[in-house]
Amino acid sequence: MTNAILITGGSRGIGAATARLAAQRGYRVAVNYRQGARAAEALVREIEKLGGQALAVQADVGQGTDVERMFDGVASALGPLTALVNNAGTLEMQSRVDGLDAARLGRILTTNVVGSFLCAGAAVRQMSTRYGGRGGVIVNVSSRAAVLGSAGEYVDYAASKAAVDTLTVGLAREVAAEGIRVCGVRPGLIETEIHALGGEPGRVARLASGVPLGRGGQAEEVARAILWLISDEASYVTGTLLDVSGGR
Ligand code: NAP
Repeated sequence: MTNAILITGGSRGIGAATARLAAQRGYRVAVNYRQGARAAEALVREIEKLGGQALAVQADVGQGTDVERMFDGVASALGPLTALVNNAGTLEMQSRVDGLDAARLGRILTTNVVGSFLCAGAAVRQMSTRYGGRGGVIVNVSSRAAVLGSAGEYVDYAASKAAVDTLTVGLAREVAAEGIRVCGVRPGLIETEIHALGGEPGRVARLASGVPLGRGGQAEEVARAILWLISDEASYVTGTLLDVSGGR
């Protein structure tokens, strides 16, 4: 039996690239989305056409009842999870901190932080040997913004990713003896649609010359790092934050 993987925010960008690569490597793939049903269904059909097994599952990761329904549904359809990629994340229009209000802060923290915690907890309950599971791997998708701070753009988003890094380090230690590894990836400037949410679709092009490798990254380059962390090749790696950022 092959392994089952759930990728939150799998309908586009880094999540979709991770879903494609996981399917190529033989995983049964659950593709979570919040609104992008059409994109998620198209990705599932693409994977199935190539002989893989996949499932699209709607859930807002920031809502506890959605998360419980998603994990139960994925386990029924694909079998118990062996990997979770906590990838769903969002940001809003570029702004200084003095322009942020409580409603926006709540939205950012609910998806990026609460969502990552809720999904990690549900994955532990399926995978941990403490609950009779077979173990597994959780990869949290953070950002180099957690270190750089995103001044003048979205310090709220950057701070949410710092919280995700702390989740990675703390949870890794909490469940290491229960068969679960927990790692993080911190992408740099990656060509996806997320920059349009901040009001600047061309952001990567504007900043690319400041990247030591001289260019923005592709979603597939992040996906390869995620799949390595999930694989047995990384069997002694836990609590580690892997920068995939071209040196920035
Ligand atoms: P993206 O193209 O905007 O895709 C975001 C994905 O997350 C979409 O599938 C979206 O689904 C989903 N999503 C958003 N909020 C959700 C929620 N509450 N519940 C469930 N799904 C939700 O972004 P991306 O660039 O691929 O980013 C993926 C991850 O990488 C994020 O965590 C992001 O912070 C991180 N990252 C990206 C970069 C970069 O430069 N691109 C850099 C560092 C870190 P719907 O379409 O259905 O809303």
